[in-house]
Amino acid sequence: MRRYIRICAILIMCGMQMVACGFQKPATNNGGEISVDVITPEEAAVSEETELNESLSEEVPDETASDESEAMEENHHLVVIDAGHQQSGDFSKEPIGPGASETKAKVAGGTKGVVSGLKEYELTLAIALKLQAELESRGYEVIMCRTTNDVNISNSQRAQIANDANADAFIRIHANGSENSGANGAMTICQTENNPYNGSLFEDSYRLSECVLDSLVASTGCKKEYIWKTDSMSGINWANVPTTIVEVGYMTNPTEDQKMATEDYQTLISQGIADGIDAYFLNE
Ligand SMILES: [Zn+2]
Repeated sequence: MRRYIRICAILIMCGMQMVACGFQKPATNNGGEISVDVITPEEAAVSEETELNESLSEEVPDETASDESEAMEENHHLVVIDAGHQQSGDFSKEPIGPGASETKAKVAGGTKGVVSGLKEYELTLAIALKLQAELESRGYEVIMCRTTNDVNISNSQRAQIANDANADAFIRIHANGSENSGANGAMTICQTENNPYNGSLFEDSYRLSECVLDSLVASTGCKKEYIWKTDSMSGINWANVPTTIVEVGYMTNPTEDQKMATEDYQTLISQGIADGIDAYFLNE
C-alpha cells in the first residue's frame, strides 16, 4: 500500500511537471509572438511619425501651390518704361527700323498743355515715375529709359534699352495733341501684322495695347479712342519685345490738359496702366 501511494505520488508529480512543461512551451511561443506584435512606446512614436510623414507628403501639392502663389507675389516680370520725348528734341535722323532707308527725327519735340503750359516731356516723366513706383510695389522689376528731362536718347536707342534688358513688356508713355481742341481720350499704338521689322510681335503687342487701353480707361474714366496699328514709329520698329505706346490724353484739350496736370489724375493713369500690365501677364 505504501508502495502504491509512492507510485501514485510519483505519477502525480510527473503529471504536474508535464502540465508545467505544457504551460511553459506555449508561453515561450507566445513570448516570441508578443515580441513581434507588442508595440512599445518607441515603436508607437515611430509609427506616429510615419503617419505624420505620410500626411505631410499628402500635403506636398498644397505646399507647391503656395510656393507658386509666393512666386506670383514676387513677380519676376521685367518692364521697361520710356517717358516720351526729352527737354530738347533731336531732329537729326535715324532709320525708322533696322535696315530701313526711310528716316525720322531721333526724338521729336512733343506737344504741350494748352492751359497748364506743361511740356509733354514733363508730363510723360511725371507719369512714368508714378508708374515705376506702382509696378515696383506690385513686385515688378522696372528699368527706366530716362529719369530726368535733360537727356538725349533717340527712339531707336530707347527700344535698344528694352531689347538689351530682354524686357517682358516695353511701355512708352506719350500725350496726344490735335488741331481740334475738342479731341480727347486715350489710345494705344502697336505695329501691324505685316511690320517688316518685327511683325511676329504683333499679337503680343496688340494684346498689351488692348489690356493697357482698357484698364487705363477703366481707371480714369476718360474716353476710349482706339488701338492704332502703324509701322511708322521708330521706337516700336526697333523693339524686339512686346511694345505699346500709350497716348494718355490730349494736352490740346483744355479740360483733359488740366486734369492730366494734377497728381491725382496722374496717379489714376499710372494705376490704370499697371492694371493693364497685370492683365496682360495674367493671360499670358
Ligand atoms: Zn509724344
